[in-house]
Amino acid sequence: MTKPRSEFELIERHFARPPRDPAVRVGVGDDAAVLAPTPGTELVVSVDMLVEGRHFFAGTDPQRLGHKTLAVNLSDLAAMGATPRFALLAGALPDSDDAWLTAFRAGFRALAERYAVELVGGDTTRGPRNLCVTIIGEVPTGTAILRRGAQPGDDVYVSGTLGDAALAVAALSGEVVLSNGDLAHAQRRLESPEPRIELGERLRGIASAALDVSDGLTGDLGHILECSRVGATIEVRALPRSATLDAMLEGRTHDIALRCLLAGGDDYELCFTAPQRHRIALAGLAQALALPLGRIGAIDAIPGLRVRDGNELLSALPRAFDHFAE
Ligand code: ADP
Ligand code: MG
Repeated sequence: MTKPRSEFELIERHFARPPRDPAVRVGVGDDAAVLAPTPGTELVVSVDMLVEGRHFFAGTDPQRLGHKTLAVNLSDLAAMGATPRFALLAGALPDSDDAWLTAFRAGFRALAERYAVELVGGDTTRGPRNLCVTIIGEVPTGTAILRRGAQPGDDVYVSGTLGDAALAVAALSGEVVLSNGDLAHAQRRLESPEPRIELGERLRGIASAALDVSDGLTGDLGHILECSRVGATIEVRALPRSATLDAMLEGRTHDIALRCLLAGGDDYELCFTAPQRHRIALAGLAQALALPLGRIGAIDAIPGLRVRDGNELLSALPRAFDHFAE
């Protein structure tokens, strides 16, 4: 395909499509979209930006990047227990490279179709590569899962495994050496995260608080603790992890593994709290979704987060990612 000759041809070729969902009264092509929310629901809305060189390496596979651009936004809805409905995509692109756009669109669209998300608008400009999605979902009125509901006595859980995305970054920047197979697995976790949408939806009425782990467990769990005005103790040995990180935890690379598990960003797993009476339901849910739900600790009334590594209580916690940390 030749390059699109204008901004409008680019949008027309790659992003405009007749909406399939009748809730989209007006989609791409007007000044704004017109959407009909489902009666009895509340809208759940979020925006997340991915900047080249900061959130992804220059030269990242465009199809994976298309997937990830939407996935990180879907992950925020999952953390609220919301069902995704609509998305807007704002992008700055250095050029109108058609092969790049085609691959990016394919990754974005495949994930959008899996969750019946309609792209209803956006904005396209020239500039350093930067991708920004606004995501709109819904929940039955009053059922969104917030950060502020954790109670002393609740269990703390994490879905899937933690730390592989950070391990990929450590490997790609030369800090650790991984086998080709291990690197491919970690890199897939970094570049192609799975939003835990079904889990989020099924946690409505079960989880007392939830968020998605995007900046690292200790920092992100810290947000739940602060918002809920509680504390927690978690166990390193209980943190769900890949075989690679498990082996590293036992060896000379223990500290790097610990940092990946506790402070690694980009995992996009859900961390949530739930009253103990839901343990059996949660075990059943893990089976139904074929997604491990690791119980990593418990909420208590003592402010702050305590992390146990075997018999030792860690005195300094690796810091979670912060764009403006000094
Ligand atoms: P405006 O000048 O009103 O901002 P634009 O010319 O930027 O409108 O966009 C024209 C239409 O195309 C709008 O409906 C807008 O939402 C849509 N659009 C622009 N860029 C994208 C994109 N990357 N993905 C989806 N829709 C887009
Ligand atoms: Mg515009």
